[in-house]
Amino acid sequence: MAATRETLLEWLRDAHAMEKQAISILERQADRIENYPEMRQQVQSHLETSRRQAERVEECINQLGGDTSTVKEGVAKFMGNMSALTNAAAGDEVVKNGIADYAFEHFEIASYRALIGAAEALGETKIQQTCEEILQEEEAMAEWLETNLPEVTRRYLQREVTGEEAKR
Ligand code: MG
Ligand code: FE
Repeated sequence: MAATRETLLEWLRDAHAMEKQAISILERQADRIENYPEMRQQVQSHLETSRRQAERVEECINQLGGDTSTVKEGVAKFMGNMSALTNAAAGDEVVKNGIADYAFEHFEIASYRALIGAAEALGETKIQQTCEEILQEEEAMAEWLETNLPEVTRRYLQREVTGEEAKR
């Protein structure tokens, strides 16, 4: 395999580990959100999307003759669990998670944009298409958060004032 194709493969492995991280973060959030039904539903829906994304990235990796690295996956899942646990300890968990999710989606957007460029440069049309499709899903999630995070935050503040459980 040419050196550049090896690099694309490595970046796809990074993306796969990133999706594993997303899955572990979103699983924990979906389990914990109680008082913000729209947020819970969106997190649940993007969790399912992320599981499909991980499968599609794995198909791209297999197409290049590679397999997914268990070391990277392990580190990514550990990091994902750590960040979810950190926010779970916060009194304003739902807001902290919304901010973290918004940042995470943009990290994913940047990663897939780079992958699209790499796949295009190597003439890997199918991989490029897959990454373009996934990019759209990440943008949709980022857009949902962009629109809804202010409202979630307002509701958090309201619940705090009225003494209702606001944290999650
Ligand atoms: Mg994703
Ligand atoms: Fe995502």
